[in-house]
Amino acid sequence: YWSTDMTVKATTMLSEADGYDLLRQFNVPAPAFEIVQTPDDAAKAATKIGYPVVMKIVSPQIIHKSDAGGVIVGIKTDAEAKEAFNKIVTSAKAYDASAEIKGVIVEEMAKSGLELIIGGKIDPAFGRVLTFGLGGTLVEFYKDVGIRLLPCDDEDIRSLIHQIKAYTLIRGYRGQAPLDEEFLFQTLKNACDFFEKNVNVVEFDINPLRLYEKGGCAVDARVIVQ
Ligand code: ADP
Ligand code: MG
Repeated sequence: YWSTDMTVKATTMLSEADGYDLLRQFNVPAPAFEIVQTPDDAAKAATKIGYPVVMKIVSPQIIHKSDAGGVIVGIKTDAEAKEAFNKIVTSAKAYDASAEIKGVIVEEMAKSGLELIIGGKIDPAFGRVLTFGLGGTLVEFYKDVGIRLLPCDDEDIRSLIHQIKAYTLIRGYRGQAPLDEEFLFQTLKNACDFFEKNVNVVEFDINPLRLYEKGGCAVDARVIVQ
């Protein structure tokens, strides 16, 4: 018979909203949001949050929301919010008819900034590792990422920031003002803390974390728990 040791535990992806709530507990800033089920409620939530807003599909089966037409940014009016709700749900259904649609998340629209990725995974040989690099939709294209084994000390985090090519942009490229490296440093430490203290988290990524001259904000969160 099969030994019980062979049992593979199932994993679950938390919703973006639950990811934000968890990350906030570790002082990682995330946008204000509300999850809605109707176009009218989308407009109400957007008004409450304040325009412009971003709206996205909420479905456990849709991992890359943009690929499914499930992300609309720059929504400025009630009419646009209602239209976006219908568009997002229709696109998601067309993308994957079997996907369970839990609603639409209405989010505060973060100002533009440098898009970075902070991630964590369990390496079969080394255990928990932290990844960091240039993020956004071109992350696989640039492959500008570094990796550190947890636990990390301050020097590990600092060298990780300095290691990526995009550090040139963080430091201030060609007369551009430098970005908030201290915020980034603290956020990477917070992400390590989050990963180490949530033993049920087996993988996560914040992609992107937007970095500004002052501060920054996570605008997507994917957390996988066992
Ligand atoms: P995906 O599941 O495709 O990764 P994201 O949630 O990352 O979807 O959204 C895609 C892109 O839309 C992000 O990389 C970011 O540039 C932009 N975006 C998402 N949420 C926000 C937000 N709240 N404010 C501003 N821009 C956002
Ligand atoms: Mg993303």
